[in-house]
Formats: sequence, structure tokens, C-alpha cells
Amino acid sequence: MKVPEKVCDKLYIEGQWVPSTGSGTIDVINASTEDVMGRIPEGTPADVDRAVAAARTAFESWSQTDPQERAKFLQALADGLGARNQEIAETICGEVGMPMFLAQLIQAGLPTAVAGSFVSLLDEFAFEERIGNSLVVREPVGVVGCITPWNYPLHQIIAKVAPALAAGCTVVLKPSEVAPLNAFILAEIVDSIALPAGVFNLVSGTGPEVGEAIAGHPDIDMVSFTGSTRAGKRVAELGAQTVKRVALELGGKSANILLDDLDDDELEKAARAGVGSCYLNSGQTCTAFTRMLVPRSKHDDIVDIVRDEVEKVYTIGDPAAGESRLGPLISDAQRSRVRGYIEKGIEEGATLVAGGPEQPEDLPTGYYVKPTVFANVDNAMTIAQEEIFGPVLSVIPYDDEDDAVRIANETAYGLSGGVWAHDPDRATAVARRVRTGQLEINGGSFNPLAPFGGYKQSGNGRELGRYGLEEFLETKSLQL
Ligand code: NAD
Repeated sequence: MKVPEKVCDKLYIEGQWVPSTGSGTIDVINASTEDVMGRIPEGTPADVDRAVAAARTAFESWSQTDPQERAKFLQALADGLGARNQEIAETICGEVGMPMFLAQLIQAGLPTAVAGSFVSLLDEFAFEERIGNSLVVREPVGVVGCITPWNYPLHQIIAKVAPALAAGCTVVLKPSEVAPLNAFILAEIVDSIALPAGVFNLVSGTGPEVGEAIAGHPDIDMVSFTGSTRAGKRVAELGAQTVKRVALELGGKSANILLDDLDDDELEKAARAGVGSCYLNSGQTCTAFTRMLVPRSKHDDIVDIVRDEVEKVYTIGDPAAGESRLGPLISDAQRSRVRGYIEKGIEEGATLVAGGPEQPEDLPTGYYVKPTVFANVDNAMTIAQEEIFGPVLSVIPYDDEDDAVRIANETAYGLSGGVWAHDPDRATAVARRVRTGQLEINGGSFNPLAPFGGYKQSGNGRELGRYGLEEFLETKSLQL
């Protein structure tokens, strides 16, 4: 498979492809070949002003449309995404480096399904209710700025844009400048379904320029941000100046607790599955289960299973060739960061069980990092506290159930996690004590209709499904 190339020289504003007011461009790099695979405009704050003005004008009529009319556009959007599924998967496979079979399923398939989910939600959602003598109406919050990251780039865009449009909001999108080509495909689809001009606008560019212009813009009512906790704090700070609603989906350091009542077969299943939950997308997943919490008495046995799983299953190589389980990391900078953390883990005294900081011998080109496992990790170590965003798993021993819960919660983050137990009721009881926005019980699968979001410094607000739609609504009460 040859990854497609795409040169985009215009922004999408007010239903038109228009040049940026600036002259800068940003190269998009293929993560496995290190070649330039595309180019996008480096937008400016003046471009943001134009896009916001268009979105503000369009809001007048779009916010008044019947939900069923909006549902028709969302269905057309989902159909358009489905029709270009292969091209989207190939593009993101190149930009992000995710193996093709996974890119098809997750990077292309999930956004299509999520866009479609809001069609049926619009059918059921009650935009009004009576409370005593009041009529309570849910109205679109207004013009929404969406700022998104590179790891699941189109999914994160659709998780904002689809519910925002469903709610009756208009949108200015700034995709990640590192993996932006998929957002231009989306804008082409939007153009092809004749969404009214100004309802969806795309301004590409960097965070400090275009992102900050959006976060601080006086005519934007809400910013929905997904990305690092560092940038999220800046967005919240800027948004506060105009008392914007700010929804933040940030980083994570999720714990996967293997409880001591698991029998040998269950333990093996949990340990093997836990490796996969850490390494998905080469560990560049905000919900990655990067800390595996195991009973101290079973630590060494579990480490043997984990090592075996990594060696047998987690082959690394060209994501476009379709044979490997792990592709490269997104960029040179990300590879250096992750290698730095691996070196830090060794320095702080964790036991390196698999992988390491060196470039894989047979892969001199591409931002590859070996799947790495540390054992005997203390939760206070840097590798257990900071989000690494690479294929690095820490196995952490605990003494008893209370200790496991304490370790799981001893983090600044609160995004996700897992609990495995022989007794599912016990697993659920432990999950209730973990301070995160979602948890998987005995490997329960991702549900695109369930609320997704973080506690603590993993953010605020919820995406997906009904909760994701409500995020974009204001509430008004009319006393009758
Ligand atoms: P990032 O914070 O560097 O960038 C995210 C987006 O914010 C990009 O579009 C970027 O251009 C923009 N940005 C950067 N600085 C900005 C600023 N000062 N003002 C406004 N916008 C700015 O994150 P990334 O490296 O693209 O993505 C990785 C991070 O995203 C990880 O920390 C990961 O955990 C997090 N993430 C969270 C979720 C979630 O749902 N909780 C999902 C995916 C990724």
C-alpha cells in the first residue's frame, strides 16, 4: 500500500476554499518513512476572525433548524465518511503510523459510527421539559471552537463536531498541525453535502497562533479542547477572560488492577489483555493502561506472562505493510521524549524486562520505539507518574486491595482504568473507588455511546452519546 499524498493550500471558511491571510505552510511528515506526505496552510489569527464571523452569522439560522433537518446532514456526513473510509485509513496510517488493519477499524471506522450515532440520538433527545410552572428548553451554546490532537485525529474531531452540529452550534475547527490531512478530507465531505455556509469552518495552524486565537476569541462561546494537560490549562486560562464554556479532554496515567482472586487462567488472560490496552497506537492513547497493578506475591509470574506476550505478539514494523502490531511514534520529538522516559526508568531503578531506549536494529528509518516493559516499579517513580505517550508499560506490585486503590488514585490524572477479578461484583466495587471517568471491568469493551471524559487533571466535561450532545447545550427556563 502506498500512503496517499495531499497538498492543501486553502482553508475552508464560509462554505468556500479560501487562501490564508498568511503565507506560511506546515509540512506533514509520514511517521514511518520520515518523508513529507503533505502540506497545509499555517493559518493566522486573522483567518480565525474570518471563520468566527462566518460561524456567528450562520448560527442565526442553523440554531433555529429542526433537529430532524440537522439529523439529515449528520447522516450525509456519516455516509460521506464511510464512502472515503479506505482513503481516511491510509492517510492516518501515514500521518500517525497506526497499522492499517487498526487504522481502518479505529481511525476511520469509529468516526463514521460516532457521526451516525448522533442521527439516532437526535431522534430521541428531549430538547424541552416541564418542571412545575416552567418550560425548560435546551438551546445550542453558540459558536464552538474545536481544538484537537493527533493521536486519533479524526475521531477526536468528530467527537466534537458531530454533537456540536447536532445541538445547533456552528464550528471553527483547528486540527492538530501534526496530523491534519484527515481534517481536510472531512472539510471536503462537508462541502460535498452542502452544509449551509459558515456552519463548519476549518482553520489549520499551530497551537500558539491559531489555537490561542480561538481560545481567547470574544465571539466564540465555547471551546472544546482535546490534547495535553499543559495546553489545556492555557486554553482554560485564555477562555476565562471571556467566561467561555471550556471542555477539556486531557492526558492520563491509567491503572489496570489485577485483583488477587483471579485464578491462573484468568490472570494470564488479564495480563495479556493488559499489554494490548497499554500498547494500542504504540501507546499514544490518552486512556492507555500504562500502570499494571499486580498482587506482590504474583508479580514475577505476571511479569513472565507480560514478557512472553510482548515478544510473541507485539511485532514492530511498517504500518502500511499490514503485518506488524506496532507502528512508529508520530514524530522525532515524541520518540526522543519517550526514549528519555525509558532512560529515566532505568536510572530510577525500575527493572527493564523488555525493550529499551535504542532504535530497533532492523528499522533505521521511522520514529520507532521498542515495546518496553518495566517491572518492580514504585508508583512514585517518574515513569509511573508522568504521561509517556509511548509503548512503555510499568508493572507495579501492591500489598492488598486498599493498597491497589491507593496506588491507582495516587496520580494527578483520572481518565480511565481497568479492574480484573474472578468475582465481577468485587471488580465493580473496586472500580467505584477509583477516581476516573471510565473503567473497564474484566476487559469490558469501549462503548461509543457511553460518556467519555476525565476526573482531576484529565479534564472536565464528557464526550460521546447523550452526555456528549448535552455538552453543547445551554439551559433556559421559561416561567409560565
Ligand atoms: P497538544 O496539547 O500538544 O496539542 C493538542 C492541540 O492543541 C493541537 O491542535 C495543538 O496545536 C493545540 N495547542 C497546543 N498548544 C496550544 C495553546 N497554547 N493554545 C491553544 N491550542 C494549543 O497535544 P498533542 O500532542 O496533539 O496530543 C497528545 C495529548 O493529548 C496527550 O497528552 C494525550 O493524553 C491527550 N489526549 C487526550 C484525550 C482525551 O480524550 N482525554 C484524547 C487524546 C489525546
